[in-house]
Amino acid sequence: MDSTPQVDLASLSLEALGAFVVERLREKPFRTRQIFKWIHQRGVRSFEEMTDLSKDLRARLTAQARLVGVTKDLEQVSTDGTIKYRWRTHDGLKIESVYMPSADRKTLCVSTQVGCAMACSFCATATLGLKRHLTPAEIVGQVHAANRDVRERFGLETLRPITNLVFMGMGEPLHNYENLKAALALLQSEDGPNFSHRHITVSTVGLVPVIEKFAQEAEVKLAISLNASDDETRDRIMPVNRRWKIADLMDAVKRFPARQGRRVTFEYVLMEGVNDTDADVARLAALLQGVPAKVNLIQYNDNPGLGFHSTQDTRAQRFQAGLERAGVLALIRQNRGRDIAAACGQLANIAEAGQVLTPTRGQKGPTH
Ligand code: SF4
Repeated sequence: MDSTPQVDLASLSLEALGAFVVERLREKPFRTRQIFKWIHQRGVRSFEEMTDLSKDLRARLTAQARLVGVTKDLEQVSTDGTIKYRWRTHDGLKIESVYMPSADRKTLCVSTQVGCAMACSFCATATLGLKRHLTPAEIVGQVHAANRDVRERFGLETLRPITNLVFMGMGEPLHNYENLKAALALLQSEDGPNFSHRHITVSTVGLVPVIEKFAQEAEVKLAISLNASDDETRDRIMPVNRRWKIADLMDAVKRFPARQGRRVTFEYVLMEGVNDTDADVARLAALLQGVPAKVNLIQYNDNPGLGFHSTQDTRAQRFQAGLERAGVLALIRQNRGRDIAAACGQLANIAEAGQVLTPTRGQKGPTH
């Protein structure tokens, strides 16, 4: 009997899968694309579903390889159509994704780690600490599973109802850089879900050296989770800033669009009395002068026990108007899924397994 460990097939690039097919399975190269499409275009969960492969080949695949995705553990549905999925990994850990439909797009907010090591003091995910990185298969598995669920829920023909991806769920994507990069390649593959780089946004708190690498090696949109206009405040609420200051971050950001020719999004979670003053408006506007930027203002979603509160609507509007007067494009982002704790900074496996909520008002948002 073959004692070689089973290969995690859904984590492999098309090339690596090709080597497995030819060298381990002793099959013709054309089988590679066939198998890859079953996994990444159709999102199947077992080799048995690969119906155009012979029974013998399916049996050998089952013996030598695994499809390690994620399994639905819980869903919570908001009245605005937002769905928070909780997935179970093969080793029993829980992660979350948030599906956010709007008139012109269907966006999935994807997790990259179980928990997070970045310790942002306003974020529910931070309270979990980092349990482990997700594999490429577990990252793309969230997209495949959500596509399947949305397809079945609404009786859709299309294989890929999700149109946009944002990497703003649990975890800091650039802290799991190699697996993120591998997952992005799978998601952008023409033989896979074929997402355009214009429809994928990766958000980071500011791991400066990795941003520079990322600019060289990946082609997607960048978002910076900024949340403060001065180092003193940012040091306090985002410990990553003690290592790389706002000036270092802005230098890296300025080099990013220069190479890729794209506008960078700055996420700014407004917290009452922390980062929402007129002085913050002035400092933020000064920071962004000359940067092709868009600022997404997000009113904080209360997490019991963390000690932060949302900025009032009038204050948020004043903040936005101040930025616009200074020539900075700023939007107050509609905050969805708040009623199901799917909103910004709220992904922390709060609900219990089996619970399906149908709440009265809805908002959303990613973790960072
Ligand atoms: S805001 Fe993002 S980076 Fe910060 S602790 Fe939460 S998940 Fe991690």
